[in-house]
Amino acid sequence: MNPAVVSLVFVVVLMASLAVRLWLATRQMRHVAEHRAAVPAAFSGTVALAAHQKAADYTMAKLRFGLFTDTFGAIVLLGWTLLGGLDALNAAVRDVVAPRWGGIPYELALIGAFVLIGGILDLPFELWRIFRLEERFGFNKITAKLFIVDTIKSLVLSVLIGGPILALILWLMHAAGTLWWLWAWGVLTGFQLLAMVVYPTLIAPLFNKFEPLADESLIARVQALMQRCGFRARGFFVMDGSRRSAHSNAYFTGFGTAKRVVFYDTLLKRLSGDEVEAVLAHELGHFHHRHIVKRLAVFFAFSLAGFALLGWLANQVAFYAGLNVMINALVPNDALALLLFMIAVPPFMYFVSPLFAAMSRRAEFEADAFARSNASAGDLVRALLKLYEDNASTLTPDPLYVRFYYSHPPASARIAALGVAA
Ligand SMILES: [Zn+2]
Repeated sequence: MNPAVVSLVFVVVLMASLAVRLWLATRQMRHVAEHRAAVPAAFSGTVALAAHQKAADYTMAKLRFGLFTDTFGAIVLLGWTLLGGLDALNAAVRDVVAPRWGGIPYELALIGAFVLIGGILDLPFELWRIFRLEERFGFNKITAKLFIVDTIKSLVLSVLIGGPILALILWLMHAAGTLWWLWAWGVLTGFQLLAMVVYPTLIAPLFNKFEPLADESLIARVQALMQRCGFRARGFFVMDGSRRSAHSNAYFTGFGTAKRVVFYDTLLKRLSGDEVEAVLAHELGHFHHRHIVKRLAVFFAFSLAGFALLGWLANQVAFYAGLNVMINALVPNDALALLLFMIAVPPFMYFVSPLFAAMSRRAEFEADAFARSNASAGDLVRALLKLYEDNASTLTPDPLYVRFYYSHPPASARIAALGVAA
């Protein structure tokens, strides 16, 4: 490999992904603006003009904000690589940490500094998104104090949990021979599976309160639904989602046929018992069709391919030189390889992401069909319309934008597939 070719390919793919992002965003903006004046005919009796226009304005505001963050993100990637940011950071951290504490502490410090700087660069955008954008449309419920507490908790958790895992992976890269990437993939995959098991009971309660559902009639109704569908409930909980946001949701966690059911308080406040049942039937559809397991399998396969690629790239001098980083002479280069990989891969993955979106939309249709045969399609449509309205999702997206990004089909397509008029 030639360093100049590496630089060229990286810059071309980065710029191409930015250009496509901006192009798709402007298409979506044009499409939404063109349909803002009137509620689409299929929804004319059920969706108020004010709600339709709020959805249009919210969608436009998010897209306009996205134009800034996408462009800024591309500049940051160029800054880290061709403009010499990572090389400078590496030299500074290495000279301070390596002589005193040695290889792995230097590598952890480098990755820590990189993540911290990235977080600080993103912070103004995150603050703007939550306290200006979401606030303006009445969605934000988080206070400045809670935001700070959340940030500190996440930081402590990432150091306590991420630190040791990262140290183990760096050690494997250094000590496990040419097949280190296979070991590292195994460690990370095992950890991710473990995290899924312990998340609902150990991590989620650090951020939200979970209280047993008190509504006996709803419990009876949901239990009956689950029995019809061949699942057992391990508990029903209400989560205080309203602490942070007015957006609503419901989900299941747990493995096997015994499920923990979690309702956002915002969802219970908004939907009738029939509609809650229909939404849960949809969620059970995901389990029935093993969507979660399939998505995990695809994810782990991609992650294995990624580790194999990293295993090869880490040994290519041109990979470092092409992204404008000087190789360390005296300490391992594994952290540098990891960071460069994390920087270089996303622009390439951007062009693969429509595949995942398409897979996800197909799964949503299957879950909707499952809900139709185990609950009422009419209730699901009524619930969907409320949820689309509460989340101010546009009813008139650009079809190409949908193909590229949407993990859920637009309301009109889902309702048409359910065979009920809105
Ligand atoms: Zn779904």
